[in-house]
Amino acid sequence: MTTISANLQAVKNRIRAAAQSSGRDVGAARLLAVSKTWPAASVRAAFAAGQRAFGENYVQEGVAKIAALDDLELEWHFIGPLQSNKTREVAEHFDWVHSVDRLRIAERLAAQRPPGLPPLQVCVQVNVSGETSKGGVAPDQAVTLARAVAGLPSLPGLPGLRLRGLMTIPEPSGDAGLLRRRYTLLRELLAQLNAGGMKLDVLSMGMSDDFEIAIAEGATIVRIGTAIFGQRTREDNL
Ligand SMILES: *Cc1c(COP(=O)(O)O)cnc(C)c1O
Repeated sequence: MTTISANLQAVKNRIRAAAQSSGRDVGAARLLAVSKTWPAASVRAAFAAGQRAFGENYVQEGVAKIAALDDLELEWHFIGPLQSNKTREVAEHFDWVHSVDRLRIAERLAAQRPPGLPPLQVCVQVNVSGETSKGGVAPDQAVTLARAVAGLPSLPGLPGLRLRGLMTIPEPSGDAGLLRRRYTLLRELLAQLNAGGMKLDVLSMGMSDDFEIAIAEGATIVRIGTAIFGQRTREDNL
């Protein structure tokens, strides 16, 4: 077995165990393999080991990798900070965007999603820790943004987009209790949206260092890079 396939297997076992020990279905959390900074060959190795969904943070790098791996049936998730001038490439090449944090970005993605493609699956990114350096809407603005994207029974949402749920990146912390409270907040926000009539099924939360905590709090997608591909050498702008 290659290192990537062994790591992948170990991560999947931990995901299943975490789901089970919190009383959830063993398949309740999907694995998104975060391939940012790694070459297409690493993605091929993960594909050979059965992985299909990959996450990228940088538009240029992601689009190049998508093109290089065109021969494989992959699902591509954009998870990084998104600027207005980059929305077209994301709308044209990715299947998901986890990092929608303002209406202008959502509107551009909607307008630029090619009509021949299925709707872009999107999550609203919420800043649960209040750090100013982090992307994401403030928790008290998440409901307004989610409604503008998804619509209401009485109002149309944005065409070309399908709101699936919420995503967050808490501040790095060794304090499991603190991380858990951040993830509780995201879970409660999703419940609030669903109580208001939405049918959202995605909580995108948890990374290599804390995904077990996120799964205990209801994560349905965990975004994991390092534990699969190894330590990144290039700086990333989380
Ligand atoms: C890099 C990144 C991850 C993966 O982080 P690891 O600690 O390597 O698992 C997850 N989510 C986002 C948004 C990222 O940028």
